Amino acid sequence: MKTISTLFDLRSARLSLYGTVGLVPTMGYLHEGHLSLIRRAKMECDSVVVSIFVNPTQFGANEDLSKYPRDLERDLSLIEPLGVDLVWNPTAEIMYPAGYQTWVEVESITRPLEGSIRTSHFKGVTTIVAKLFNAVQPHKAYFGQKDAQQAAVISQMTRDLNFPIEVIVCPTTREADGLAMSSRNKYLEGADRSAATILFRALSAAKLAHAGGERNAAKLRAIMTDTLASEPRAQTQYVSCADYDTLKELDVVSGKTLLSMAVMLGKTRLIDNFVLE
Ligand code: AMP
Repeated sequence: MKTISTLFDLRSARLSLYGTVGLVPTMGYLHEGHLSLIRRAKMECDSVVVSIFVNPTQFGANEDLSKYPRDLERDLSLIEPLGVDLVWNPTAEIMYPAGYQTWVEVESITRPLEGSIRTSHFKGVTTIVAKLFNAVQPHKAYFGQKDAQQAAVISQMTRDLNFPIEVIVCPTTREADGLAMSSRNKYLEGADRSAATILFRALSAAKLAHAGGERNAAKLRAIMTDTLASEPRAQTQYVSCADYDTLKELDVVSGKTLLSMAVMLGKTRLIDNFVLE
């Protein structure tokens, strides 16, 4: 496994990769969720590239960029046994050289949900993913359902910009108690960690109601809101019951639907979602 940081090294290493190339973009501090993406890429591609880059442009001014957890040595030791060919770990100066002024923006599906709160987030995400796609030129790229809107936005960008890349969205990996794995779970301490299962419980309650025949989207949103409100440590930012493809809020659930939410637990912001088929 080669670990490289410069674009020059990436380009020469890319030329020597054999067959179909799968890319797994990450911000590091890897957990089982990331590793599940890498394993899937390994099953479906001849060669696998993992990028590790904490992308500054997707963090808002008051967000956690400076304290975002980082541990490259640990990440490499987790990746090594999986048979990854290349780890690309560029610096911010390589990705955003002085005088940088080019951005990739996706319009309407970036506006609701995460975009309504983190207003410049997706501009940073689409710009960095477009740059990773250009640099690595993968055949397939792997993203997690955990960040459902991100996966939808990247799929849209890939179609719109005619990247010849298949975007593959992989299921959310969870802790035994249902909490979706996230690098940010490290911030959760004591009572906030156990309270964090409230997202899974709220989504499960709405899913159960849907399975029991409830199709009124307002009622499903109310079930999630009420369940979250039962946990005093949780501050709800939004709950949503939206069309899976357009992310527009629904009145009546009929086709593929995304239940999603963002919740603060102390200073830690958590997101989670379920897909209703
Ligand atoms: P991040 O390092 O948080 O930017 O995540 C890198 C990739 O891993 C993204 O495509 C995420 O959606 C995905 N990911 C993060 N957490 C999980 C999880 N619990 N299950 C599956 N995929 C995940």
